[in-house]
Amino acid sequence: MADYIYTMEIRLTPDQMKGVNLVQEIARTAEVTLYLTGGAIRDIISGFTIRDLDFTVQGNPLKLQKEFERAGAQIAGRDEDARALFLVLPGNVRAEISMARTETYEKVGRPPLIAPASIQEDLRRRDFTINAMALSLNEGSRGLLLDPFNGVADIEAKLIRILHNYSFAEDPSRLIRATRFAARFHWPLEERTQQRYNSAKENNYIEHIARGAIGHEIAQLAHEDDPLNVVRALEREDWLKVLHPHWSSAKVDANGLALLMKTRQQMVDLGYTVDPSAAVMHFLTARLSDKDISDLRRQIPRKDLVEAWRDIEDHAKDLAKRLTGKEAATPSRTWNLLSSARPEMILFLAVTARQQAVAQKIKNFLTKWRQIQQRIPLPEMTELLITPQLPVYPKVAHDVFMLLLDGKLRSRTETLKFLKPFAPPPPPPPPPPRRGRAAKAAAAGLQPGGVAESTAKGKRGNKGKSEVPAAPPATAQAPASPGTKAKPAAANPEPKAKTVAKAAKPRSKPAPPHKSASKSKPVGKPSKKATKKKANSRKR
Ligand code: ATP
Ligand code: MG
Repeated sequence: MADYIYTMEIRLTPDQMKGVNLVQEIARTAEVTLYLTGGAIRDIISGFTIRDLDFTVQGNPLKLQKEFERAGAQIAGRDEDARALFLVLPGNVRAEISMARTETYEKVGRPPLIAPASIQEDLRRRDFTINAMALSLNEGSRGLLLDPFNGVADIEAKLIRILHNYSFAEDPSRLIRATRFAARFHWPLEERTQQRYNSAKENNYIEHIARGAIGHEIAQLAHEDDPLNVVRALEREDWLKVLHPHWSSAKVDANGLALLMKTRQQMVDLGYTVDPSAAVMHFLTARLSDKDISDLRRQIPRKDLVEAWRDIEDHAKDLAKRLTGKEAATPSRTWNLLSSARPEMILFLAVTARQQAVAQKIKNFLTKWRQIQQRIPLPEMTELLITPQLPVYPKVAHDVFMLLLDGKLRSRTETLKFLKPFAPPPPPPPPPPRRGRAAKAAAAGLQPGGVAESTAKGKRGNKGKSEVPAAPPATAQAPASPGTKAKPAAANPEPKAKTVAKAAKPRSKPAPPHKSASKSKPVGKPSKKATKKKANSRKR
């Protein structure tokens, strides 16, 4: 039997996994049964990117709002009818927690009657088999996959299949969803599903789409990896104008969008977690009128997306202004400014900056300046015992980088000169070996019992090795990780470099650098020559 918990743990990002644990903990305390459902399960099994986490509880999740807020989650919206909470969990993880429910459609075009239900009943109201699975997150059954419609088989067959013949009639937004998933995964509709789809289209079921569903589908476009591909597919099927009558692919800034997605990938490769959704909406609607854009925004249920999209240009302007001011007068200042900016703003500005100076600074930040990090002499820092174990290490490493960025450390010699005052004292020498009878005999060139000297020398050599001071305990790591400014150490017994410029002359008396620090031999370890000399003197 497949181990879905294991698959989940290796497929989710660490932040998403923390999100699962957090929701699980809250559900356990509130004594409600919890399942991971919908697209998250589909994507865990199929290997596609997991965009958000959909949870279902047997109970009312609206009652848990306070607990989520207390745990650091932001509430991005609520759906009172479906009793769903839209959340942003710590680490920018999008999640939705819905009540397990039945939806009864009494008449085409009327909203369904909603009632609390079991998870098994809930799965029957879902759109496609690949989305109608639930993974138990409850004690006793954790890891059990409920898959009543054989969604796993359809994932393997790469097919989009409705659960029953009336699916599109009951909820015509599924027509849009079918097109969206088909375009995203490049999977076809299963044969009968395709027939039902065609007939729903001919009969114009789409005119009965619920307003809430329109808003949900608009927002979903923001999270696509290839949004233009999906927009074009919706347009071909005539669904884009259902989302807004004036929307077409001609209203999209296709070049801007392509550059956005390319830059986003570049940032992801550098280790950033960046949510491009607001920027995607900006480019998807670039040529729509302000009124059309506010119409679109009004329908979106997640207010976090609406606000981020609404504010994106103003925030980018603010950042651009700061990038042309004193705060970014030098490369190091610019680095610090951009390191503390939200990655989303860097991304958006990288694509939209009109001023050459701003564009260049962002480009340097994402490319050239990172190569300067390679010039931080990590091996020499290890030799000087300036390793991550030192409380002062993050600051020293950061300062070296800042000085290198500003061209204030022009050679390796200058860099080492800056670093040496920060080297801690070497570890105390080991106590001298006890000179018992055996040791005295060895010193006289004989092993007890007359063992030949060459053998004794070999043994003594080994013993001697273990007596030399241990090599530095750890290899130095690269300082400031991409985009993060190294925080000064909390406890800081080492010389404190107050400002970057003064850092070379620490205020408090620095620990004396070890004598061998300037040589390329590890600190505290006698050179081979010295050891040999010592051994020879013993022989004599
Ligand atoms: P995505 O990767 O785009 O988020 P998703 O399948 O998770 O895909 P959501 O819109 O997040 O899509 O919805 C979560 C789940 O809720 C779906 O997987 C599906 O089970 C169910 N669902 C959403 N919309 C509908 C609908 N119109 N009819 C039936 N079930 C739906
Ligand atoms: Mg989802």
